[in-house]
Amino acid sequence: MIPAAFTYHRPKTTAAVLRLLQTLGPDARVLGGGQSLLPMMKLRLASPAHLIDISRIAALRRIRKTQDRLHIGAMATHWMIETSPVIRRLAPALAETASVIGDLQVRNLGTIGGSLAHADPAADYPATLLALDAELILQDGSATRVVPAAEFFQGLMTTALRSDELLIEISIPAPVARSGAAYLKMPNPASGFALTGVAAAMALDGEGQCIAVRVGVTGVGPAAYRAQGVELAVVGREPSEAVLAAASAAAGDGVDANSDLHASAAYRQHLARVLTRRALVLARDRAQSRRRVR
Ligand code: FAD
Repeated sequence: MIPAAFTYHRPKTTAAVLRLLQTLGPDARVLGGGQSLLPMMKLRLASPAHLIDISRIAALRRIRKTQDRLHIGAMATHWMIETSPVIRRLAPALAETASVIGDLQVRNLGTIGGSLAHADPAADYPATLLALDAELILQDGSATRVVPAAEFFQGLMTTALRSDELLIEISIPAPVARSGAAYLKMPNPASGFALTGVAAAMALDGEGQCIAVRVGVTGVGPAAYRAQGVELAVVGREPSEAVLAAASAAAGDGVDANSDLHASAAYRQHLARVLTRRALVLARDRAQSRRRVR
């Protein structure tokens, strides 16, 4: 189908985008890589009167490290994230996540900011950003606010982002010594989206006890979530196979799991438990082999 008519804008700066968002109001939508918005417009599930193309704003694509954090511009593509040396060194689980999104064409155009703002319940990044304790930097014409990933995903395709705000950047703390993370998913064989995806991040002390763990789950419920029951059952303990397997049983607790033609709710819950156990084991093994990060 052909999208409804719209007015196209291509501002050169972030400030100009924010001015447009303010003056045009909710009839305007930001265009990132177009990999989710354009299909929705072609299906007439979205018919914005104005499209604000942010693809030419180089500042929004920057990936950089400061003292103790990694900063990823919202317009960094999945391909840039998959191949960035600084991300592969400081947040390898994020590069791992980007590498399993869609196909090469989608990864070449699609952006992390677009994926997070779109908040598809089967998107990959949300699980990993929850596990890595990421923060999202949102800006409107007058202020900037920092929203933890755990507060950003609010429900089915619903986020903390207001229609006059732009997602500018994703910020992730640099890893501590003896920490590791992993992302695993069962892909939908047709689209590649996650039927279920689980990211785990773990830090160990000198004795090998787990001192911090976070588990993010996507694809199961209407929005990605932290599996806090799992985390509580692991933290403070030696993460043996038995402990991790027992803890993983809580991966889908309290979640109203989706059921559709792709998978039943029971199967998604099963995948959540299995992938949680495997992701925890991988995160632990990586933590054990990672002594120091620069
Ligand atoms: P767009 O489509 O341009 O925008 C999406 C939404 O985000 C729009 O509402 C737009 O207004 C808003 N937006 C964009 N950027 C910003 C910003 N900076 N601030 C505020 N709002 C913004 N995803 C997965 O996670 N896993 C997969 O396996 C997967 N497979 C795919 C397979 C196919 C064939 C396709 C077409 C897509 C697939 N996707 C998958 C989705 C893909 O990751 C998209 O790139 C992503 O969802 C949207 O990013 P985008 O830059 O293309 O955003």
